[in-house]
Formats: sequence, structure tokens, C-alpha cells
Amino acid sequence: MNAELISLSKQFYLSVLSGGKFVSSYEDGEACILEVLRAEADAREKRAIAERMKQARLPTYKGFKEFDTDFQKCVTPEQLSKLESLEWVEAAFNLVLIGPPGTGKTHLALAIGNRAVDRGYKVFFSTMDTLMHILKTREISVKSAARVRWINKCDLVIIDEVGYLPISKTEANMFFTLISQLYETASVVITSNKGFSEWVEILGDAVLATALLDRLTHKCQVLNLEGDGWRLAHREQIF
Ligand code: ADP
Ligand code: MG
Repeated sequence: MNAELISLSKQFYLSVLSGGKFVSSYEDGEACILEVLRAEADAREKRAIAERMKQARLPTYKGFKEFDTDFQKCVTPEQLSKLESLEWVEAAFNLVLIGPPGTGKTHLALAIGNRAVDRGYKVFFSTMDTLMHILKTREISVKSAARVRWINKCDLVIIDEVGYLPISKTEANMFFTLISQLYETASVVITSNKGFSEWVEILGDAVLATALLDRLTHKCQVLNLEGDGWRLAHREQIF
């Protein structure tokens, strides 16, 4: 029997077919079954991508192709293609993108998220603010509880805009707990307008900040983005 047919029938738990001894009484029987199983596998794959895309909650589409390394010189084309390869996600490396507004942090984070969903990874994207809301309401909201369950299953968790809004002591503790849980099981991508030295201020606790950075940066790539920002350079006006 055709090897692909056997492998597909194993995927669908079809015991008779996967035993490899099935003989069709029709002339093209095997080819016909293979065609049906291929179509089914294809449709399932598409549904799985759509479902992962939904769970990932990526707000907009941004791709690597659209990222201009002539404009953002702090990211070389080599670094971009390394990021695009996602080998670092496989190795559970973290990535921290630091820089002023408009330097492409969210763009890169979204491009990574989109690529990872396509490649079969479980992804979750959220701003720090929304993430805090989810964590705080997990006990009283079914939706938040489901999101937290998904986050804990993810291969890649992207947290956008860390440090933009002040967070409370409880929130800082929840953030620390989450990073500890994800440590070594998932890749975490963080974007921030603040360097690590300012994280003590963000988290409001030096001991907590040290412990968090210790976990986050153990296997981590930091990219410092600079420049005036894309929005300013490409400002559109009504008049
Ligand atoms: P940040 O998150 O750093 O504030 P964004 O990633 O949101 O900035 O970028 C702002 C806008 O500029 C977005 O529409 C983004 O697609 C675009 N942009 C920023 N940097 C680049 C770049 N190097 N190449 C292409 N588009 C860029
Ligand atoms: Mg941003």
C-alpha cells in the first residue's frame, strides 16, 4: 500500500487502512481513498491555522517583507532573517525589543507572531495593559480564565508596551509569576520604551525586578531600536 495513504490513515486513526493490508476491489480504489484523505488533512490544517490565528489575538497583520532595514538600521537583514527563521522559538529564547515610539517594535513583534502561527506554533499577543486585565479577572471571568489557559499552552507569548503605563504591586507580582511559569517552556517577546535599568521603576520593587530579569534574560536576545520613528518620518497631513 501507498506509504502516504498509511501515514494519513494513522493520522485519522483508521485502523484497517493503517494496517496496510487493505485491498480495494475497485481499480482506482487506493488512489481515490488517498485523494479523500489528502483533502480532509488539508481542510483540517486550514481550520487549525484559523483557530490558532484566532487564539493568538494579533491585532493587525505586519510581515517581515514590509520591514525596512534601510530605515531601521539597528536591525540588519541578517538579524531579520534569523528572527524570521524562528529557530530561536524552537530553542525557547526570549526577545526584548527596546526603543522609542515608532521604531518598529510592534511591527517586528506582529511579524514574528504571524509567522509563528503559520508555522504551527501556539501564540498569544497582548499589550501589557490587556494582559494585566486578563490576569486580574481570571477568577471572575470565564473569558479571562480561558485566555490564561491558552497562554500557559503557548509556544510564544508576545507582550507589547511593557512600561508605558504604571503597574501596581499586585500586577508586578502577577507579571513575575507569569514570566516564571513561561520560563524555559515558551518564548517571550517583550517590547518596551524603557531599558532594563528602568525596570525597577516599572515594577516598583528592586528584588522582584532582579528576579524577573534574571529569568527573562537567561536565554535572551535584546534588540535596541533607535531613530526618530517611522510615524514621524512618514507623517500624513490633512492640509
Ligand atoms: P513602535 O511599536 O516601536 O512604537 P510600530 O512598530 O508600531 O512602532 O511602528 C509604527 C508604524 O511604522 C507601523 O505602521 C509600522 O508598520 C511602521 N514601521 C516602523 N518601522 C518600520 C520599518 N523599519 N519598516 C517598515 N515599517 C515600519
Ligand atoms: Mg508599539
